[in-house]
Amino acid sequence: MSSNLSHPEIREEVARLCGRFPGEYWRRLDSDRAYPTEFVNALTEGGWLAALIPEEYGGAGLPLSAAAAILEEVQRQGCNGAACHAQMYVMGTILRHGSEAQKQAYLPKVATGELRLQAFGVTEPTSGTDTTALRTTARREGDRYIVDGQKIWTSRAEHSDLMLLLARTTPRDQVAKKTDGLSTFIVDMRTAKGLTIRPIRTMMNHNSCEVFFDGMEVPAENLVGEEGRGFRYILSGMNAERILIAAECVGDAKWFIEKASAYAKERHVFGRPIGQNQGIQFPIATAYAHMRAAELMVAEALRLYEAGENPGAEANMAKMLAADASFEAANACVQTHGGFGFAEEYDVERKFRETRLYQVAPISTNLILSYLAEHVLGMPRSY
Ligand SMILES: Cc1cc2nc3c(=O)[nH]c(=O)nc-3n(C[C@H](O)[C@H](O)[C@H](O)COP(=O)(O)OP(=O)(O)OC[C@H]3O[C@@H](n4cnc5c(N)ncnc54)[C@H](O)[C@@H]3O)c2cc1C
Repeated sequence: MSSNLSHPEIREEVARLCGRFPGEYWRRLDSDRAYPTEFVNALTEGGWLAALIPEEYGGAGLPLSAAAAILEEVQRQGCNGAACHAQMYVMGTILRHGSEAQKQAYLPKVATGELRLQAFGVTEPTSGTDTTALRTTARREGDRYIVDGQKIWTSRAEHSDLMLLLARTTPRDQVAKKTDGLSTFIVDMRTAKGLTIRPIRTMMNHNSCEVFFDGMEVPAENLVGEEGRGFRYILSGMNAERILIAAECVGDAKWFIEKASAYAKERHVFGRPIGQNQGIQFPIATAYAHMRAAELMVAEALRLYEAGENPGAEANMAKMLAADASFEAANACVQTHGGFGFAEEYDVERKFRETRLYQVAPISTNLILSYLAEHVLGMPRSY
């Protein structure tokens, strides 16, 4: 990565912070399915989660490449940024489409961490990837909206003050395009009535939840931008989100590759290091090559993004290649460790479970392939 995109000084400081949160810290949380409050507080106090908030709203005003460097380094050090990465980018919807009053009300507090805006309510159990089929409705009544419906996989809902919610304000059969009639709201979960949060136990410690809305009232002033245009607002943040998740996967891949090569050098079987066998070397070397290729695609996506261009294809490819590379590296790391790859104290099995997610969320690999087939290669839309 070129030096203006790689931010070595940021990586160094983030690595130092992460050094205070070793494997045993994450293992304990994993076993208790608990939230890494101390880690998130440390990142917040360091100002790292406010990287993308402009200085006029109390943030650091850094470019996306700096945020990518922060998140990559968190993963590379064996920590898990999934607990708070959304605090960095969910606010982007308010920044780009919110009113000045909303920006003044929320962004400075998000920057200091006084407000956590890291819950993103889009996915629903019945609509799945087909977002425009979502069923949660928001009905205007005077100076408020009444929200009914359900979300699923709303990560960090229990550890967030605010949620960015996508709901249908005009029925699908009354709009010209199915992407119309959806609206985005800022929900204050601290005071909302008719809101129920139910955690879902998953294969990794991810604090993801089901969220139910039963006549929940949202003040009309919490509508972001124009009613009916919410789908576009959510889409406008997707490139940044994909690039940042890709950077995290590159960080994971680096952690696995470093861990696997170190173990391959030190573990002796048949009187020699296992890393002397090509059967051990080659899967790690292959994973390394794939990680480097993904890293280059992340850099290209960042370059285009920061030049003000639309890196839709590159952001999607970076996310797919990096998620594949991180899981390939994870698999090689488990294999290199033999039985110890399954032992909790090595952290390999935990990271293996954690990085598997990124082939499914926030967008699954098939949908990225569909995007490339349709929008880059000009083939017919498949769904
Ligand atoms: C731990 C976790 C955290 C998450 N956090 C959030 C969050 O904070 N906020 C939020 O809104 N969502 C969140 N999600 C949801 C996530 O974005 C979705 O799980 C993901 O987009 C896939 O949607 P789905 O689970 O409904 O799968 P489905 O849409 O049911 O798809 C199932 C499978 O079918 C494939 N498929 C579907 N349609 C097609 C097609 N046309 N062509 C080819 N293949 C297809 C998919 O690729 C997938 O592999 C999270 C999910 C998880 C597991």
